[in-house]
Amino acid sequence: MADCIFCKIVSGELPSYKVYEDEDTMAFLDINPTAFGHTLVIPKKHFSNLEEIPADLLQQTILIVKKVGQSIKDNLDVAGYNVCENNDPGANQIIPHIHFHLIPRYKNDHLDPWPQTKYPEGKAIQILEKIKIN
Ligand code: AMP
Ligand code: ZN
Repeated sequence: MADCIFCKIVSGELPSYKVYEDEDTMAFLDINPTAFGHTLVIPKKHFSNLEEIPADLLQQTILIVKKVGQSIKDNLDVAGYNVCENNDPGANQIIPHIHFHLIPRYKNDHLDPWPQTKYPEGKAIQILEKIKIN
């Protein structure tokens, strides 16, 4: 896609700190890391989100997430890592080329990712009835 930053990274038009590359996928350091080692894993072909990417390519991409996660665990002094995919602009997806964030978690990093709440009476079943897949 002409104006896509990640397509330009794939083509070499823009530089990146490349962590991994194969025929179909690529991983590189996020330029503005949440934590040192924050890595993005992408399919080389441009698909915007989980709804657009074909299942086989998604499988390949998530296996690279696993591979890069292993390298982060083996080679950085991490306590674990978070995997995140911001799916659509309304979910803070800025770059419309699907990517998985791997965010290394260091001991006492105080990155508390998500606030949590409680379901009011009856709400959980109401939501469940809407999204349940039969
Ligand atoms: P998202 O909000 O999920 O679309 O995340 C996009 C991510 O891409 C952000 O964390 C940015 O810091 C990162 N980013 C933007 N431009 C570049 C770039 N040229 N190289 C590496 N990472 C980038
Ligand atoms: Zn793209």
